Amino acid sequence: MPSRASPPVIVWHRTDLRLADNAAVTHAARQAPAGVVGAVVLPAEPGAPFPLSRGRDSSVAARAAALDVVPGVTGWSHRRLGHLLQAVEGLRAEWRAVGSELFVVRGDAVECIPVLAAELDAHEVHTAPCPAVDEVRENAMVERALSERGMSLQVHDETTMIAASDLPFAIGDLPEVFSSFRRRVERECRVPAPLPVPAIRGACDDVRAQAAACTDATLAAADLAAARIAAASSDPRASFACDGARSAGLARIAKWFWADDCVARYKETRDGLVGADFSSRLSSWLALGTISPREVASEIRRYEAERTANESTYWLFFELLWRDYFHFWVRRWQRRAFNARGVLGRTPCGSQDRETFASWCAGETGEPFVDAGMHELRATGQLSNRARQNVASWLARTAGVDWRWGAAWFESQLIDFDVGPNWGNWQYVAGVGNDPRNRVFDVRAQAERYDPDGAYRARWAS
Ligand SMILES: Cc1cc2nc3c(=O)[nH]c(=O)nc-3n(C[C@H](O)[C@H](O)[C@H](O)COP(=O)(O)OP(=O)(O)OC[C@H]3O[C@@H](n4cnc5c(N)ncnc54)[C@H](O)[C@@H]3O)c2cc1C
Repeated sequence: MPSRASPPVIVWHRTDLRLADNAAVTHAARQAPAGVVGAVVLPAEPGAPFPLSRGRDSSVAARAAALDVVPGVTGWSHRRLGHLLQAVEGLRAEWRAVGSELFVVRGDAVECIPVLAAELDAHEVHTAPCPAVDEVRENAMVERALSERGMSLQVHDETTMIAASDLPFAIGDLPEVFSSFRRRVERECRVPAPLPVPAIRGACDDVRAQAAACTDATLAAADLAAARIAAASSDPRASFACDGARSAGLARIAKWFWADDCVARYKETRDGLVGADFSSRLSSWLALGTISPREVASEIRRYEAERTANESTYWLFFELLWRDYFHFWVRRWQRRAFNARGVLGRTPCGSQDRETFASWCAGETGEPFVDAGMHELRATGQLSNRARQNVASWLARTAGVDWRWGAAWFESQLIDFDVGPNWGNWQYVAGVGNDPRNRVFDVRAQAERYDPDGAYRARWAS
């Protein structure tokens, strides 16, 4: 083991909670004769009110004190937080398996990361890029705080299949329409193979002991215990039990691709509402980065080479391109991704009708298809794409409520919350994004088409 005299390098994980296919881990491992440790910062106050404005002040106290909070919505539901803890505990096991440790701390990253680096006497912190305005700002503040102490923050591209630096255009010139983006990317880019877990030099004994003690102390908090219980509990009506750890995501790939060949039927089944297998269910692992999109793309390629290549296998790749697109979209538009008038400033914002919003969140709108979706979301933290489109369209277009409130509720509840895909899809559905179709969903016609026997509405009637 290296001695404490040579300081370790820190990998600050955010939505990249894995060692494999992780450019930050790979680079850190190359530059760390004295070992590498991981670090994760958990939200200090997950129950704080949800701020409507982003990019103004990132401190928790300032957000909580802000007047523009979304009524009745907190930052993180217990279930979503518990899902994150499952992912973090899996990551800790990964770090331990390579002879190192993970520091789990709580608070404001702008304070926690520089303090940790100073305590370990680390000169370098490696991390993933952050797409949205708050995180970009947080990154800049951490970078400044580190550099004031003579330390550096190195950011590596890794949350998308195609690296931003490999795009055939600058992020600022991102095509406004997805199909233009897709055509250019399909023509001009290649998805790289995922990186293997690098050979990692473990940290010395006293650093590992310090990390273990710090993480144990953090995870002992009472509200985290409640979150863990919420994530482990499963509603009997739920079709799919989702554990946040990477091992569970890999098991899902093994079953959905290889044991059951569901990927070969995906294009026909993907609009399903009931059942575990109509879609891949990989979103929650992708959102926290326990599985990378390149790992999924490489699995698609392998399946196509070894079993079959058809419209369905292509369509899964197509959906991953949507994910990439919204990651770049939120980087492109920054604060406007969260603006009521949308990225193009097209339509005026909706009403701030608290009563209608509360009835939507509770699944008490009186519209059975919408209420079923909202009950499922609250009970499981999951929702199919078809149901998301319908409940979102009903709130933003039919009821005319501020779409940002709905996006905030989704953010707090969804275990697969991902900033670009969530806020980008909400803008599309609300008609303020750059979706050329600009559709309003007729939820009754949708229910008849996608839930013809009423099985979904019956299952989630209350
Ligand atoms: C209002 C609204 C909010 C949404 N919020 C989120 C969110 O917070 N996080 C999230 O991951 N997805 C979000 N989506 C997109 C989509 O609903 C989910 O990705 C999908 O339902 C997840 O299930 P799956 O993993 O089985 O998807 P599959 O159908 O198996 O698709 C595979 C993967 O492709 C990506 N993908 C699929 N559809 C989309 C899409 N429309 N936009 C971007 N990526 C997509 C996801 O990473 C998904 O895991 C939202 C959609 C709407 C309409």
